[in-house]
Amino acid sequence: MSDARIAIHGGAGVIDPESFGDDREARYRRALEDIVVSGWNLLRSGASALDAAEHAVRLLEECEYFNAGRGCVLNADGVAEMDAAVMDGAGRRCGAVAAVQLTRNPVCLARRVMEASEHVLLAGPNADRFGAEHDVEQVSRDFFVTEDRRQQLASAAAAGRVSLDHDEKYGTVGAVARDREGHLAAATSTGGMTNKVPGRVGDSPLIGAGTWADDATCAVSGTGHGEFFIRSMLGYDVHCRMAYRGSSLEEASRDALESVARMGGSGGLIAVDREGHIALPFNSPGMYRAWIGADGSPHVAIYRDDDLDT
Ligand code: ASP
Repeated sequence: MSDARIAIHGGAGVIDPESFGDDREARYRRALEDIVVSGWNLLRSGASALDAAEHAVRLLEECEYFNAGRGCVLNADGVAEMDAAVMDGAGRRCGAVAAVQLTRNPVCLARRVMEASEHVLLAGPNADRFGAEHDVEQVSRDFFVTEDRRQQLASAAAAGRVSLDHDEKYGTVGAVARDREGHLAAATSTGGMTNKVPGRVGDSPLIGAGTWADDATCAVSGTGHGEFFIRSMLGYDVHCRMAYRGSSLEEASRDALESVARMGGSGGLIAVDREGHIALPFNSPGMYRAWIGADGSPHVAIYRDDDLDT
């Protein structure tokens, strides 16, 4: 048993078990479990919630199954254009980057923006440049592109649609954590939507929309159709429901997501509060997720009827 808590997601959306074939589902589950355990071990060793959330998201970026970092979806030009944010619940410190193309781990660049600049959000080529100037690893554009994603873009372009991921699932990654001191943090990273208009920015790097943390209430990371999450300020909405209305984390998360659904948006979120409760609601048929709560054991789930005992 411990005060540490961590939850991660690898995207929400329509997930057809049939489409997994061979051992793909098992590989996704194993990756989620390894990453949540790695974040948890960091927290147990005394690391801050911010370090653990950034660490987990960096590992998710490095794993090409998920839509962030290498293996992320491609824009209409066939280029990976990525968004990321981190937020520290202690003092609401935060950093974010949008539409970066050369930074290997956008979440680490978001952290550098928070710590090495006076700003919250840097965008485009100058955000990558800031990374190069601050020792954040830069790579070529080709580094991010996988054959799967090239094919996915070709079929989306042929059908003239903008889609969120391979199996019509949303594919952002994120982490929320509570450390032994009771501090909260959130981190989110994404390639956004396949065939998106170059320059499009989603909810993930927008503080209060796809990413939020305040020690007084909760840490939140969202995944879903970003435009709806921006219009409903999902993360801040969860916070407000707890702060002003006295809602529990579970009620606030569920109600905030319902308000996204009322506008027509689908997706999900992961959240943790200062007492260590964890909520993982989604309104899509599934959401890749894993968490370690009060029992200290890793839980991994994809579909709605997977183990939901938090
Ligand atoms: N929310 C992300 C975006 O719209 C996409 C996702 O969660 O898959 O950029």
